[in-house]
Amino acid sequence: MPASKIDSLGEWRRTHYSKDITPSNDGKEVTVFGWISSIRDQGGLVFIIINDNFGIMQMTLHKNKVSKELLSKVESLSEHASIGVRGKVKTMSKAPNGAEIVPSEIKVLALPQKVPPFGLHAETLPSMDKRFEIRAVDLRRPKALAIFAIRGKSLEIIREFLKERGYHEVNTPKIIATATEGGAALFPLLYYDKEAFLTQSPQLFKEQLVMAFEKVFEIAPAYRAEQSRTLQHLSEFLSIDVEEAFVDYKDVMNTIEALISRLYTGVSKECSKELKLLGISKLPAIDKIPRLTYDSIIELLKGKDVQIEWGDDLSSESLDMIADELPSYYFITDWPTKSKPFYIKPASNPELSESFDLMYGSLEIASGGTRIGSKKELMKRLKEKGLKPKGFEYHLAVFDYGMPPHAGFGLGFERLLMVLTGQKNIREVSVFPRDQFRLTP
Ligand code: ATP
Ligand code: MG
Repeated sequence: MPASKIDSLGEWRRTHYSKDITPSNDGKEVTVFGWISSIRDQGGLVFIIINDNFGIMQMTLHKNKVSKELLSKVESLSEHASIGVRGKVKTMSKAPNGAEIVPSEIKVLALPQKVPPFGLHAETLPSMDKRFEIRAVDLRRPKALAIFAIRGKSLEIIREFLKERGYHEVNTPKIIATATEGGAALFPLLYYDKEAFLTQSPQLFKEQLVMAFEKVFEIAPAYRAEQSRTLQHLSEFLSIDVEEAFVDYKDVMNTIEALISRLYTGVSKECSKELKLLGISKLPAIDKIPRLTYDSIIELLKGKDVQIEWGDDLSSESLDMIADELPSYYFITDWPTKSKPFYIKPASNPELSESFDLMYGSLEIASGGTRIGSKKELMKRLKEKGLKPKGFEYHLAVFDYGMPPHAGFGLGFERLLMVLTGQKNIREVSVFPRDQFRLTP
């Protein structure tokens, strides 16, 4: 690598993005910035692919037509270098977006000092731990960029869908005084001189907020000190929480169905390039999501080689067997009351509850249900679950003021993204994943 001077940004400012390097701008003078993702030297021609916020563009250099100075700058470049380019747009059918840039001036703004232990376009990659040590560099791989383009678009679609339907977006505290549900282990922290916790879910807050707003949603991190290292658990994940007054769990399932359907249509339409890059030629159209009762799932498992009693949670072994027959989305409804949290409403047969899980094969995507609206019943259920009503007095207090019937769900956004982008490990869909063994970067 010949030694090269680093230029200063100076007065250069971007005039166009990669998406603007198209035949309609043929002949235009542009200033672009980005980082280099590939360099191909083909005799008299050098093709350089530059990535920016909106994708990729090609810069083509005719070695015998450019100044010595420009040529020596280009020779100093390598993958991951940050550059600025001034030049003319020229129509070129084979280039990305049908046009390329013929440079007149280049600024070298940063040159890599190290070569990453993985190629940007490599099919086989080193261990995840190695990549994640320099995750920001790992995220420059086109496949990673595609995942996060889909992540961004999905969030946009989900927000738009919920807002159109009249849900209010809320933000509830992530630092809380007591455990919300029991069960999932919480992360304790020091809040001034008191012990506090990070929230595992906004469950109680969102239920309270239907009193004022009727329909609410929150998209925010949830924290769980998961004790086992799996492919689908993070210690910090993005939870999409929805809660609504004057509906029950069946209405909520309808909402989820419409949401998933919209998401699939939207991502298919707007992220086709990214999906293709990830090896997904076409997303299926999701219309109706089958609803199977917990009882029917137990029936289904009876003929199989697995130990299960009515009332048990479904083991990963059982779920794998179910997934053989139900590989796509389906709901498991009407769970035994004892297997669900205290705030889930028991059905007319109190052994069963008005609840559901949204599944994709063996992967749980969301949980929801009709909630208990009466304070008396809620206190009874808390005690049955071995929880102390005292710890929930601030929550229970508002139930004295006319809590409407309500229902809702919590959906793990990264789980949904795993399905959408075909990833087996949840860490691939999180920019900086947190698990029991990873707290950096
Ligand atoms: P699981 O049984 O898979 O651990 P859960 O039933 O404990 O999940 P819920 O309390 O129902 O989880 O949370 C709602 C949703 O949040 C889940 O359906 C799942 O999609 C997601 N979720 C829960 N825990 C995690 C986690 N540790 N990492 C990523 N997503 C999670
Ligand atoms: Mg659940």
